[in-house]
Parts: sequence; structure tokens; C-alpha cells
Amino acid sequence: MTKPEAKKRIEKLKNQLREVDYAYYVLDRPIVTDAVRDSLKDELENLEKAYSELITSDSPTQRIGGKALGKFEKHKHKIPKYSIEDVFSFAEVLEFDHRIKRFLNLPEDKDMEYICELKIDGLNMSCLYKKGILDKAATRGDGLIGEVVTHTVRTIKSVPLKIKDEVDLEVNGEVFMPRSSFEKLNKKQKKKGGQIFANPRNAAAGTVRQLDPQIASERDLDNFMYSYDGPKKFKTQEEVLNELKRLGFKVNASWEKVSNINETKKVFAAAHKKRDSLPFGIDGIVIKVNNIAYQNKLGRTAKCVRWAVAYKFQAEQVTTVVEDIDVQVGRTGALTPVAHLRPVQLAGSTVKRATLHNQDEIERLDVRIGDTVVLQKAGDVIPDIVEVLPKLRTGREKKFKMVDQCPICGSKVVRRKGEVAYYCENKKCYAQQQESLYHFVSKKAFDIDGLGPKILDQLQKADLLKNAADIFRLKEDDLKPLERFAEKSAENLIRSAEKSKKISLAKFIYALGIRHVGEETASVLADYFGSIDKLKSASVADLNQAKDVGIRVAESILNWFSDKKNLNLISDLMKLGVKINNPAKRISSQLAGKIFVLTGELGSLSRDEAKDKIKKLGGHVSSAVSRKTDFVVAGHNPGSKYDKADKLGVKIINENEFLKML
Ligand code: NAD
Repeated sequence: MTKPEAKKRIEKLKNQLREVDYAYYVLDRPIVTDAVRDSLKDELENLEKAYSELITSDSPTQRIGGKALGKFEKHKHKIPKYSIEDVFSFAEVLEFDHRIKRFLNLPEDKDMEYICELKIDGLNMSCLYKKGILDKAATRGDGLIGEVVTHTVRTIKSVPLKIKDEVDLEVNGEVFMPRSSFEKLNKKQKKKGGQIFANPRNAAAGTVRQLDPQIASERDLDNFMYSYDGPKKFKTQEEVLNELKRLGFKVNASWEKVSNINETKKVFAAAHKKRDSLPFGIDGIVIKVNNIAYQNKLGRTAKCVRWAVAYKFQAEQVTTVVEDIDVQVGRTGALTPVAHLRPVQLAGSTVKRATLHNQDEIERLDVRIGDTVVLQKAGDVIPDIVEVLPKLRTGREKKFKMVDQCPICGSKVVRRKGEVAYYCENKKCYAQQQESLYHFVSKKAFDIDGLGPKILDQLQKADLLKNAADIFRLKEDDLKPLERFAEKSAENLIRSAEKSKKISLAKFIYALGIRHVGEETASVLADYFGSIDKLKSASVADLNQAKDVGIRVAESILNWFSDKKNLNLISDLMKLGVKINNPAKRISSQLAGKIFVLTGELGSLSRDEAKDKIKKLGGHVSSAVSRKTDFVVAGHNPGSKYDKADKLGVKIINENEFLKML
């Protein structure tokens, strides 16, 4: 990026962030998620790092929190409330430890004690006591000036109005709304047509900044304290926490002392694991230098304290830029527009591409080449572009236009009646054959070890593969002359192809690559028909009897089996020794025939494990919620399926209930 380009981008980001922060801090009505805000701020910070001459004092990166709202009395903090730097990886945590030791002139391998506390997802609160009586409570505001909210904080039962010692002191902590209270509140608000809060943190902030303390008292806020500024001097943060507890404050009991930075990794992992089962939200852990003399020496930068770091859970949303959109041809000939993204880290992996599904989706999102977009990942689902940030446009963005010729074979592209997708109608299109082969050998189909897209391409180019059956015709001598094929790998590949010949009916049906027949439908069909011959001779009406098989799917299946080429493929596969294991008749089980939809991330098992377990017990897993769905299993960070289930009145169960069911 050139300097003039960076300057323009910085201006755009600053304006967007100002608007976002105002909505969040002043109005308590966030317009984007925390992850999106953090991602934009991160981009701005990086640009400002690269072009430090472009930093201005009014940049949102130079401020802490938000301005106080006019309606409350102001409070000037005796000690400004500094921010804590966020990090998202253990490498950055190690860097924090190194930085501290460099600053304190300590050897790099010296053990340093840290206190790890949960990072409570609430809002910062200062409570001032005079002679042991609560005198004033104030929000953090912009770090220097906060708002006096004593009237609402007094209604929080865990904030003592009187403490054990008759001393003057200021304590600091987090006010939050427990998850159950948040749900109750939103339900109530919905019923009476009031404001719906985006998340518990936002509801807590909105409640604290109520003029009417009666409303606050009905909303069940809670609090944890973690810092102390009073007559006693302590040597460690550990002592501070113990003293706070002794004085009568509520201190979160999950804090842990570790003797060196490496141990924080375990604490972080444990916090992540218990995240969903806690009655309140956390977004990571705060790692604090335990020794207060060190804390004082370390001090702070313009914005953040140097002695602590917030090690946050990986975000499931991030912003990035669409650098290009091109078209991919699938195994059914469907053309899928794919966005090429500026590479970003999302939930632990680098994402460079995202499917845009079809032209309608592009129009719905109004996504253009050059746009800044919100990328989202929930559970182990493939990342999706969920939103465009139009305010960051420069005017040079380009609209995408669907091609009228197949980018691979040049054939005409058509949009079939009643379908959103465009298709390359050439059945012999190289890309279609290629994708069918990829699909056939994939994990959920024949699962042929060592036969990935690269080797398939190589075999296809060497004219060794015309269709899937040819895979089982390969001989070692065909493979050995090929580049990269040593004797051993040729032998291994033939062996894994041989091994894959024993296959379940569900996987076999899935491997055929029939349009609209995904993994779940394949398993429903296998259970219902019990053999490939029965499926082959089924009518639309028969197919319709199977659970979740609608007319569109039924027609597609019929269509596939009416093509002689496909019937030949099946009989060739059988002749070449493929052995299908037909499903045994199911013993009736509690889950038999029940349709499940999974959303969000499950803590104790992966999506695939959950699916397998459901299927083993006779249930089905569907990817979309409909009235036919029996249960929606909601893990951490559930997606729109949760809302849809709620709307349709489908039963929603959490992970624990689900595990019990299994
Ligand atoms: P920060 O990232 O500087 O973190 C420091 C804060 O963590 C403290 O002020 C304190 O309130 C809190 N905290 C929780 N537990 C703690 C503990 N045990 N010890 C010490 N501190 C603890 O916080 P910030 O600058 O107030 O705000 C940034 C947060 O607000 C981010 O998560 C950001 O995503 C969110 N935000 C969201 C929007 C939006 O529009 N969605 C806008 C602005 C800010």
C-alpha cells in the first residue's frame, strides 16, 4: 500500500471506528460485534505503526473507552483507567513476558510469577468508599473522566454498601449481567416492545447508565472486584485479591497463580473449556505480573499498562478485503463465485478464500471487488462473508458479473429455471470431471488415503482416469513412470484403493455426487432403502417417503439414475470389486428418525463426532432448520440457525442436554 493509499484508508477506518465506538460507549447500542470492531482497530493500528507520521491525537487508537454522556455527573479518576493490550496467540504472550524482562533488566529465562484472572465480559467500575461506606461509583468513561452511576450500582447486591474496615479506598472491578438474567431481560423487553440488547455486556452497560435505579434493581446485575487503592500497601496482586475478599467484596474465585509464563497456557485452555458452562460471559484471561513493585516499575504506555495483558479467545469474526472474485466449476457443473481475500487469521487458521455461493447471494450482500467485509466462522463451519462495510468504500470497487461462458471449457453458461445457480451444461467439462473425482475419493466418500487433488490431476492429465471406476483399474505399472511416483507410493496407493472398496451404503451414495444429495441425505436414503438396487428403482413418490427428501431432491436422484452412463458406473464399480455394506435394520432407539441440526461450537466433541453419534443412534443430521427439525443443538456462538429455530418454535438444547440424550 502506498502512503497516499494508507492515508485514505486510515481516514476511512477512523471515521468508521468513531461511529462504532460512539454507538457502543455512548449510546450502548453497538452496531457491529466486538470482533469486527477489534479487527478494524487492529488494521488501523498496524497502518499507524507503518506510517507513524499519520497518527493524529483524535484517532480512536489513541483513546480509552468512550466519552461520558451528558446526562450524568462527571467523575475525574484519581488514577486514569488504562487499557490492557489484547493478544490472541501464545506467541504474543511469550513476547509480553520477554518485553517485561527486558524492561526490568531481568534474564530472559528467569521465572516470573503471574496471576491469571478470568477476563469478565462486563464494564469497568470504580467504587469509592469513605470510612467504609460506598460513597460513589463511576464508569471508566474515556479513562480520565467517567460518569457517576452510584444510584444504579447501589442496587447491585454483590457491591457492599458497607465494608469491613472503616477506611477510605477505591476499588475497581467489573459489573456484568449473568447470562440467565440477560436472556430473561431480553424476553421481557421483546414482550413489551422495549430495547433488545445485543449481548450481556451491552445490557449491563445500558442498565448501569439508567436514570431510574428501580429499573436497574430489577435487572439483576452482578460484580467482581480485582484492584485496590487504599491505605494498605501490598506486595502482590495475590494479596490484593485476598484483601478485597476479606473486606467483603466479591472476587472471582477462579484466579490462579502461576510460577512462569508457560503455565498460563494451561490456564487459558482451561478457561476456554469452561467458558460455556460459566453463568457469566468471559472473553479470555488477564495475565498480571504478581509482584507490585515490578508493576510500579513497569508503569504504562500512553494507553495501556505494561504489566498485564488480555489473552483473548480467538475471534470468530474478522474483517478483510475482497481482492478479487472468480468462478469455480463444481462437479455438477454449477458455477460458484469465490472471493479471493486479503489473507487473515480467523479462529486459528489463515483464510484466503470464501465462497459467495451464487449470484443472488452476491446481490443480497452487495459485495464488490475491493470491499471490506466481515468474515465469520462458527464451529467447524467453512468461513462465510456475512456483511459488507460500505462506509469503507473508496468508489473504486467493482461489481461482479457472472460469466456467460464456462471459464474451463468455454461452453455456454445457463441459469436453470427455478434455480439460483448458473451451470456449465457441458457434461464432459474437464472441471466437472475433476471435481467429481475429488468428491469420489474424499473423506466422507471412498476416503482413499494418499489420493488427493494433486495426484488426481496428474492421473487425469496422463489419461489414466476418465471416470471414478478407472481408479480401481489402476495398476502399479501405470503409476511408476509418473513424476513423483516412487515404487512404494504406487504400491501404497493401489493398496488404499483396494481397502476403500468396502464401503457403507451411505458413503457410496454420497460418493456418486448426485446433485442435492449431501452427506445427510445420503445417510437418510441408505437407511430408508437399505440397498443401492432399491434406491435405483425408486419412484419420486417412493423417494418422497424418506425423511427430509423433498420433490427437488427426489427429481435430482431420479434424473441421475436415468442416465445410462451413471448406471454403467455403478455396475463397473461392482465388477471391479466394490462391496457395499448395507445398513442393518435399526433397533429402535430414542433418537431413531429424529432430525438434528447443529449450530455453534461444541466443547467436548467435534461436529463430525457429534454427527456420527447421532447417526449411530438412528437419528439424522440436517444442515438447515425447518419445521421438520426435532432438535437444534446449540453450542458456543450459535449462528442464525439458533434464531430460526427460536422463531419456528423448534426445541433448542444445549451441549449438556445433548450429551445426556446420547
Ligand atoms: P480492554 O480491551 O482495554 O480491556 C480492559 C478491560 O477489561 C478493563 O477495563 C476491564 O473492564 C476488563 N476486565 C475484565 N476482567 C478483568 C480483570 N480480571 N482484570 C482487569 N481487567 C478486566 O477493554 P476496553 O478498552 O474497555 O474495550 C475494549 C472492548 O470493548 C473490546 O472487547 C471491544 O471489542 C469492545 N468494544 C466493542 C465495540 C462494538 O461496537 N462492538 C466498540 C468499542 C469497544
